[in-house]
Amino acid sequence: MVSSYDENNIFAKILRSEIDCKKINENDYALAFLDINQQAPVHILIIPKNPYINFYDFNKNASSAEILGFWELLNSLIDDQGIKDNGFRIISNSGKDGNQDVPHFHLHLLGGKNLGQMINLRS
Ligand code: AMP
Repeated sequence: MVSSYDENNIFAKILRSEIDCKKINENDYALAFLDINQQAPVHILIIPKNPYINFYDFNKNASSAEILGFWELLNSLIDDQGIKDNGFRIISNSGKDGNQDVPHFHLHLLGGKNLGQMINLRS
């Protein structure tokens, strides 16, 4: 597990407005934008505005207000994208075994079609 935050990761650059993103929504604590490599009709990344490496780091070190604000933004996206009733998938890749590419905590929100089985948990 990487123990220090890399200020030069691409999402840190998006947060500093050094590179563009296709913003969908934001609040005081979190930003949501389109994944550059869309894997479904809805594929949005949600990131905290403060520097956390991964899901564990965020849950352990973020304030209650940050955590609440993050989940509030996520639920507003589920409403706004019209995917509440048909369903969706949320993915968090963490660390080496999770194949995390960008070391700034993010969730993938995917929906808009049947996403199939991610991993066959029944075999
Ligand atoms: P992962 O860290 O494996 O969960 O995935 C990182 C995700 O970030 C991938 O799905 C990429 O397509 C996406 N991504 C990388 N660079 C950008 C960018 N500049 N804007 C939007 N999405 C990006």
